[in-house]
Amino acid sequence: MTVGSGSVTLVGGGPGDPELLTVGAARALAAADVVLYDRLAPHELLAELAPRAELIDVGKRPGHHPIPQEEIERILVAHALAGAQVVRFKGGDPFVFGRGGEEVEACRRAGVEVRVIPGVTSAIAVPAAAGIPVTHRGISRLFTVVSGHAPLTSAELEHLAGLGGTIVVLMGISNLPSITAGLVRFGMDPEMPVAIVERGGSAQQRTTFADLVTVRAEAEHAGIRSPAVIVVGEVVRLARDGDADGARALAEAAAGGGAR
Ligand code: SAH
Repeated sequence: MTVGSGSVTLVGGGPGDPELLTVGAARALAAADVVLYDRLAPHELLAELAPRAELIDVGKRPGHHPIPQEEIERILVAHALAGAQVVRFKGGDPFVFGRGGEEVEACRRAGVEVRVIPGVTSAIAVPAAAGIPVTHRGISRLFTVVSGHAPLTSAELEHLAGLGGTIVVLMGISNLPSITAGLVRFGMDPEMPVAIVERGGSAQQRTTFADLVTVRAEAEHAGIRSPAVIVVGEVVRLARDGDADGARALAEAAAGGGAR
């Protein structure tokens, strides 16, 4: 790479709470000339964290269409080729359903230097914010993270039902009924506990508990909406005072008292 040329850094911003940004993320933002950010990234503090940068919102907003992926890639590359230090600021981790791989490829194709700063993924941090560990000795020694954006195939449901451990579904609210019914159809215990954690890590966090059979009605009754993480598995039983625990830990950390 030519010295002094621009570059692109994909930065994982964590699931929404600015407390979960990494030191690397903060440093990359502080050095940025341009930041392209998403709805799910913790963008409220961008003016503070990236004081020199031009901020470009490429996410969905009510009444606005999101900028198409190819256009995002074009903007990233164009600014970098013009010499800017560009940050692509994404929710969670850039490589977990974040299209980070496509953006890395687009930069490489254009000869633009690109690096990736991983982030705290909602797949682990959002259950944790509700008091649910995705693994637990003697209870679950594996977890599967799956996108519920498109309906799962019968083969996928059959494998998931037979695998054991914890299932974490992202983008799964609209397909919740077919996923949970499918797991039961392929032999999973109908009383397997399910938790749905909405807006994890924010002041509006809410967790709904049910089992595979009751979850559909519970979700409808509660009016559950995206963004939410669905957790299926015995570990859900470990959440006691989940939301309150998570909120307390974050408040303590913010007050500098989180070392215990
Ligand atoms: N790259 C992201 C995931 C992008 S897919 C990551 O690693 O976290 C977007 C999905 O992530 C949402 O539909 C939802 O299922 C989940 N999600 C992200 N942030 C969330 C939050 N704060 N609370 C609940 N779910 C969240």
